[in-house]
Amino acid sequence: MSDTFTAEVAVIGGGPAGLVAAIALATAGVDTLLIAPPAEPDHRTTALLAGSVTALETLGVWPACAPYAAPLRKIRLVDATARLIRAPEVLFAADEIGFDAFGHNIENRHLIAALEARAVALNLARIAGAAVSITPDATGVTIKHSNGEARVKLVIGADGRRSPCRAVAGIGTSRRTYPQTALTLNLAHARPHDDTSTEFHTESGPFTLVPLPGQRSSLVCVLDPARAAELAAMNDAELARDIERRAHSLLGTMNVEPGRGIFPLAIETAEAFARERIALVGEAAHLVPPIGAQGLNLGLRDGATIAELAAEARRHNIDVGAPEVLARYDTQRRADITSRAIAVDLLNRSLLTDFLPAQGARGLSLYLVDRIGPLRRALMREGVAPAVSQPRLMRGEMV
Ligand SMILES: Cc1cc2nc3c(=O)[nH]c(=O)nc-3n(C[C@H](O)[C@H](O)[C@H](O)COP(=O)(O)OP(=O)(O)OC[C@H]3O[C@@H](n4cnc5c(N)ncnc54)[C@H](O)[C@@H]3O)c2cc1C
Repeated sequence: MSDTFTAEVAVIGGGPAGLVAAIALATAGVDTLLIAPPAEPDHRTTALLAGSVTALETLGVWPACAPYAAPLRKIRLVDATARLIRAPEVLFAADEIGFDAFGHNIENRHLIAALEARAVALNLARIAGAAVSITPDATGVTIKHSNGEARVKLVIGADGRRSPCRAVAGIGTSRRTYPQTALTLNLAHARPHDDTSTEFHTESGPFTLVPLPGQRSSLVCVLDPARAAELAAMNDAELARDIERRAHSLLGTMNVEPGRGIFPLAIETAEAFARERIALVGEAAHLVPPIGAQGLNLGLRDGATIAELAAEARRHNIDVGAPEVLARYDTQRRADITSRAIAVDLLNRSLLTDFLPAQGARGLSLYLVDRIGPLRRALMREGVAPAVSQPRLMRGEMV
């Protein structure tokens, strides 16, 4: 019996991870269908590390992002706890490792608009609706969507933290919630940020100001859920004063912009990143707390990796959804995802704990990082360009 395919690959989900995967595949000449309802308004920002910026440049997306993105030339970590053992202030500068910037911060709405415009320019086929059912079998996957049905060889599940694709593939997760909520918003301020991101470590979690173009910054303020709800309910003037106090007036008086977000914090990792002709990318594969700008940077590396593997399989006339392709994807993503999830989890828990040795270990680690040049530079390089799992796109090469 002959099998008729609508496209070779379907990407389900049009968040930034799905859009990057679909654009990378289409650019590599892989017949791709994007099944994605229009994006919801997202007022968050993303600190895109240098490798992610390189990937967007390679895919022709960056020119539309650049006017809305602010460079991150310095990162300052400040221990703002009142604890017995406090860490020294640490300042990382991108020029210490020969980079102009660690990365760029951009509002998600501008990033998504740039990606969507690139997808249109590439004539990427898109169903602007949801996948209703996804059924894998031995030779392909049948997807029922709002406009009808599609049949493909490989599905890329980019459908977010509650991923229907992950459920269909029978992939479980390990998950832990934290007693913390992130309040996000953007603000204008009286003093310049000098292209410096400042992360205050507090007993309830990090309070991070990240530069936006002009005298504006984005804020991720991690608090216990009750306090986060109180702040979210304040009027703009009260909230601006509260934030200025928490920021130790570093950036002067503040004006809060419309669009506040509330995100309960959790960490969740899929037990496998691919199975049953379905490969998971972005938050469908891993959810990490917003510390150290890891989440979407990992998600973009997922998208770049699966696009690379699918394009390579096609060049060798191998079925793009074959078990060996999925196994390679799983192996290639495992070290990067698990090492970053562990690091973010440890850092977050060392802030929350009242256990003195844990506070001491955090203080000592930051002291060593501050004092030992090679360790400092190795850490910075690892942040910007991880030693493992740098897909071709992140090195400026096409998939
Ligand atoms: C407060 C905060 C700050 C953050 N800051 C950073 C940062 O500075 N740097 C960083 O790298 N990361 C950051 N992150 C993480 C980053 O925001 C996420 O990793 C990223 O938004 C996830 O993108 P995604 O494409 O995987 O998922 P999403 O953006 O959630 O997209 C999933 C998409 O799937 C669609 N979908 C769901 N079901 C279906 C279906 N059945 N059919 C079709 N489509 C479907 C949804 O409509 C949605 O559009 C932060 C996160 C938070 C909470």
